[in-house]
Amino acid sequence: METELQKKISIVVPVYNEGAHIRESMACVGRICEDASILYELVLVDDGSKDNSWEIISAMAKEDERITAVRLSRNFGKEPALCAGLDAASGDAVIVMDADLQHPPQFIPEMVRLWKEGAEVVEGVKSSRGKEKKSYRFCAKLFYGMINKATGIEFDNASDFKLLDRKVVEAMKQMPERMTFFRGMSAWVGFERTTFEFEVAERVVGASKWSLKRLITLAVTAVTSYTSAPLHCITVLGVVMFIGAIILGIQTLYMKVAGYAQDGFTTVILLLLLIGSMIMMSLGIIGLYLMKIYHEIKGRPRYLTSRVIRRKEEEK
Ligand code: UDP
Ligand code: MG
Repeated sequence: METELQKKISIVVPVYNEGAHIRESMACVGRICEDASILYELVLVDDGSKDNSWEIISAMAKEDERITAVRLSRNFGKEPALCAGLDAASGDAVIVMDADLQHPPQFIPEMVRLWKEGAEVVEGVKSSRGKEKKSYRFCAKLFYGMINKATGIEFDNASDFKLLDRKVVEAMKQMPERMTFFRGMSAWVGFERTTFEFEVAERVVGASKWSLKRLITLAVTAVTSYTSAPLHCITVLGVVMFIGAIILGIQTLYMKVAGYAQDGFTTVILLLLLIGSMIMMSLGIIGLYLMKIYHEIKGRPRYLTSRVIRRKEEEK
């Protein structure tokens, strides 16, 4: 065997209510790695599941020394769960994937090959969005359109199916923000990047756990984390409104002086509506950033771990 085969790959999988299939799914991942003679460890992060996921993954960790089970103290969401996984991973490279096999594990050997060829970030790009609901697809489109425009970072068809070199993981760990957006962070850090295309598979069991509300929250976190463009929009809008106000003011005064002054109720109502809505919107946007500052400044940990199960192999 070549020496480079000894490099260890950590596979980080966030798990939330996946008890129905997690054992089989992870066995499938393990088999693929073994067939490709990849030395791996599995880091399963239970994100406060309400079903029997924890019982299953803790049992798996006790049976197999390559499996680490981490349990968060409650449901923190996928993003903090990923952070917990990255923190617990010890491999020379980390692969992040979903538990539901929508990120096809057959690509793992290919990702590892690209990494060994020198890539530091190997990103999965969705060639199609699989069988997703129309409304979901629409939201995803809107979501990515918004972030692409606002941040200038290309997120389109990006996925959380990624391989990160140890260097990249360490760089991401240095980012102190509390409200994380994994895709944004891994794009922001830079490094030698390469992509591969994959077809999104169908979820093995159960339904997607992302509600519309969660998607919107993620979109807001994404935008407010990577750009302050909305704040600048407010300023620009303010200037435009001010110019409009001057022009209208001059016209109104002229009418008054010239004696044409009519009951300009239409204008008044329109102005009231327009200005009112602008102010509300602007306050809202400022509020979003304030909220972010508030959350960050509290400096709370991203997640809390309640248990870690790892059968320590005898390190040689
Ligand atoms: N997930 C999680 N915490 C949550 C929601 C989801 O850790 O609060 C995990 C879930 O177990 C899965 C991954 O995130 O491994 C993706 O979730 P899902 O398949 O529900 O989302 P989608 O594929 O629709 O993006
Ligand atoms: Mg899924």
